[in-house]
Amino acid sequence: MPPKVEERFIWLSGAIVPVYEAKINVLAPTAQFGLNVFEGIRCYWNSEQNQLFAFRLADHFKRLKRSQRLLKMADTFSVEELKEAFIAVIKANEYKEDLAVRQTLFIEGYGSWGSREPVNMFIAPIPKGKTSAEYNKKGLNCCISSWQRINDNALSPRIKCGANYINSRMGQLEALENGYDTAIFLNNHGHISEGPGSCLFMCKGGKLITPLFTDSVLESITRDSIITLAHDLDIKVEERSIDRTELYNADEAFLCGSSMEITPIFSIDHYEISKEKGQVTKKLHEIYLAAARGEETKYRHWLTPIY
Ligand code: PMP
Repeated sequence: MPPKVEERFIWLSGAIVPVYEAKINVLAPTAQFGLNVFEGIRCYWNSEQNQLFAFRLADHFKRLKRSQRLLKMADTFSVEELKEAFIAVIKANEYKEDLAVRQTLFIEGYGSWGSREPVNMFIAPIPKGKTSAEYNKKGLNCCISSWQRINDNALSPRIKCGANYINSRMGQLEALENGYDTAIFLNNHGHISEGPGSCLFMCKGGKLITPLFTDSVLESITRDSIITLAHDLDIKVEERSIDRTELYNADEAFLCGSSMEITPIFSIDHYEISKEKGQVTKKLHEIYLAAARGEETKYRHWLTPIY
């Protein structure tokens, strides 16, 4: 039997320990200044193949390394070590179900916000379904946030670091307090950027449109998967800036991310987009989940078997 969530095993400092024994120093720069970079990686259980598949693990590790490099954190773990530890901690928990795995590199020790080391790591596999409410909805009523998305010249959205989620928090809490499910941010040029923890696609005239990476958007792995899947389905994709009112007039729109997967947007600022999941969104959602769960051999190269 896999352990209860409160007793699950976490990988920390080279050891696999129960979560209540995984401790860090309160003076560590990660605790004081959010000095960490991380990935949220999904694993999908395939009961027919009796196998757990990690989705696009190598691409997550590439992004983790880019984030680490941009924050000038010491390069302590090789990609091989990142992968070995990832697999070991899931096996230790004996998980045979869908997971969201948090893999975080952080600055420990007694330094300050300028410290580059020591860099340590924890890996926490979390059975899926326990995260934020907006990740478990059939469709989302969104608002355009009054908060601007962070930008590359202040706090780069390209870096997946804990501190960036303060901006996400402001947008998400404001949206919830005003009765919406989640927020969509505009960037510092007034164009659509992304959600607090997801990327955005809109569909108009059968074509998919998504903001550029230079529109203050995380280099999302789900976004990349959707672009590939859309090409394979003969759906045209445009990567370009999107105006706010253009989005209000979309035929379909959805948010996407490792946690969010593909979730339709029902309305934005009370402009109705659709009452249910649109046709293009539905097609992409089905093929995305089939690919991630190992039911589509064509995308098998995206998967890493755990067992
Ligand atoms: N944007 C933000 C701000 C996010 O936190 C996430 C989730 N990691 C995404 C986009 C989607 O990225 P991915 O598809 O790689 O999970």
